[in-house]
Amino acid sequence: CGIVGYVGPQPALEVVVDGLARLEYRGYDSAGVAVLNGGRLETEKRAGKLANLRKALEGTPRSADGIGIGHTRWATHGAPNDVNAHPHVDNAGRVAVIHNGIIENFAPLRLELEERGCKFSSETDTEVAAHLLGEALKDNGDGDLAAAMRSVCRRLEGAFTLVAMSVDDPDLVVAARRNSPLVVGRGNGENFLASDVAAFIAHTRDAIELGQDQVVELRRDSVSVTDYDGAPAPVREYHVDWDA
Ligand code: GLU
Repeated sequence: CGIVGYVGPQPALEVVVDGLARLEYRGYDSAGVAVLNGGRLETEKRAGKLANLRKALEGTPRSADGIGIGHTRWATHGAPNDVNAHPHVDNAGRVAVIHNGIIENFAPLRLELEERGCKFSSETDTEVAAHLLGEALKDNGDGDLAAAMRSVCRRLEGAFTLVAMSVDDPDLVVAARRNSPLVVGRGNGENFLASDVAAFIAHTRDAIELGQDQVVELRRDSVSVTDYDGAPAPVREYHVDWDA
């Protein structure tokens, strides 16, 4: 339902949770976040209101690593509970994924992944994307999360926005979209992404709207957009001049 991503010098956990709060008007049944803390991937997720997540996060040290992703879920596959809430993580614990929309062909993909030895912990369609990314990173062996995302997206059917981060690249959030909204907010030495500009206009009003079947690599100092084959892709840059 709602998606937020951040790379930059601010405490990522706060930026991401505040961003999710600005998307609360859309309605949701669960919420979750992933950050890197001293190079370790940490996730927290809770069914119910953002207040439940905030409570679970109380006492969590501020993420020093300046990277985070967050999600509010509107369940389509699997009950709204803590386990099915996003982010979902691959079996190696190296990649965290959040997802809006529906992966229509998740059932055959899940079977294939289970045959490869992947262990699933949720009932969501989303979790196949986490394991597919983990397997692609393992197969490719180069730690290239954007390349892994492109190859995974080429296999997915349906409408989705997918966002991922990995322990192997602490300055990178990768996102992809098909038939589901995704906007980038460009800051100074920091960058944002979200399903809706409302999540980041407190920080920046310089936005980039992604097109169909595009992948964005978000770093502190750069935003790069390609198609699913890795070729540079055209985007629409604009300034958000309304008040939210
Ligand atoms: N289909 C996914 C799920 O049920 C994502 C739903 C959403 O867009 O929030 O977890």
